Amino acid sequence: MKTALEYGRLLAERQIGARELAQSFMDKISSGNGKYNAVLRTCGESALSAADEAQKRLDVGAALSPIDGVPVLVKDNISTKGIKTTCASKMLADYVPPYDAAVIEKLRNAGAVIIGKTNMDEFAMGSTSETGYFGAVSNPWDASRVAGGSSGGSAASVALGFAPLALGSDTGGSIRQPASYCGVTGIKPTYGAVSRYGLIAYASSLDQIGALSIGAGDLRAALDIMTGIDKRDMTSADALKPSAQKVKPIGEMRVALPKEYFGEGLDDGVAKCVLSAAKELEKMGAKVSECSLSSVRYAVPAYYIIACAEASSNLSRYDGIKYGMRAEKYEDLSDMYEKTRSEGFGAEVKRRIRLGAFALSSGYYDAYYLKALKVRSIIKQAFYKVLEDYDMILCPASPVLPPEKGESLADPMQMYLSDIYTVSVNLAGLPGLTMPCGFCGGLPVGCQLIGRAFEENALLTAAEEYQKATDFHLRAAKEAGL
Ligand code: GLN
Repeated sequence: MKTALEYGRLLAERQIGARELAQSFMDKISSGNGKYNAVLRTCGESALSAADEAQKRLDVGAALSPIDGVPVLVKDNISTKGIKTTCASKMLADYVPPYDAAVIEKLRNAGAVIIGKTNMDEFAMGSTSETGYFGAVSNPWDASRVAGGSSGGSAASVALGFAPLALGSDTGGSIRQPASYCGVTGIKPTYGAVSRYGLIAYASSLDQIGALSIGAGDLRAALDIMTGIDKRDMTSADALKPSAQKVKPIGEMRVALPKEYFGEGLDDGVAKCVLSAAKELEKMGAKVSECSLSSVRYAVPAYYIIACAEASSNLSRYDGIKYGMRAEKYEDLSDMYEKTRSEGFGAEVKRRIRLGAFALSSGYYDAYYLKALKVRSIIKQAFYKVLEDYDMILCPASPVLPPEKGESLADPMQMYLSDIYTVSVNLAGLPGLTMPCGFCGGLPVGCQLIGRAFEENALLTAAEEYQKATDFHLRAAKEAGL
């Protein structure tokens, strides 16, 4: 298995052809996906014709970017014109967007070849990629376990060699946690760095699009293409692309280990791997020391109140009229709304709409929603304070190894609690990166780097240096026999 940048080079040197490359990945998906359910559909003809267009440019040395002609998979909540975009839901099971998301426009303009859409939790609500209407994603390392979520299909696809690069979205950890469970590298950029136009909304103040790959270099290439202001997303920022951001050498970086992130509830094997990554960074010259981030204990409740509140509002658009399905039998308008929403949403989505509507209701707004917003600003301040003294924070991405399939569905509260190390990053709007840093009982373990707003390159550079010194990120490819 090669990185997206390596494939880009081989294409530019005309050692391989774009059509053959796209076809070979789609063939790999059709033969290998049955067991894992990571990909919901491939794009067939449209992928091959995009590859042919790329080939014309490559033949005359006019590549549009370092990944011109490279196959990419896209999470199924990112709108793709003319290609079904279902959010792994019954509600949108037949929805075909009439437009491309901003990131898709940008990737197409850079020559990337979209070969398919990946499986996920329904409307990105979940931590295991089991809540989707089209079934669960299996972990590439042990198919009886989950791939993580909600971008589990994208993470598993990269690990299985279905594409060298995949897009995901991250509202509370949905790129970073599945990257950890599947042994791949993933980044959630700063809130606002990448346009959300065309990302089907879950919780708008937290949602962010990012990318997953084997290594950090590909993620920089992807963010270089996707970063930047977009007037169709009022929260997008005039951010510098990562390769234009100044960055210190690793030997001058200061790395914080928050002591509260290594306490009760953290699996010993996970702790060991993450601490060994700290040692490795230290060997490379970084100054690693302990800090305190006690606000972490409020992160999960604040996150779930805010995320569910926003979801209950965002998902009110699915009413049987504007998009998606409509119940077949109903008596009048309100019965049509009720039946459409009862039949169209799964149990987890309904649970969150109810929780959110409750938190926003007039009697409880101050007690829950407003309070959660206050906690959010306390958490944000705490992170900003630590990041005044440090360039980045190193911590686990998940307190546990990937659970067995079915476990989390039986106990949603336990699933929510496992988001403890990722949700604060979204509440604070900061960038976060997960990279593989070891194995425990044959399963991969990832560690998370959290950085200052609009300083993705610091995380990417630290990860790249770490990946030069270690080979955990290459193990996924090797073990899968690629
Ligand atoms: N597990 C979290 C949730 O269910 C995060 C999901 C996400 O980032 N999309 O809300």
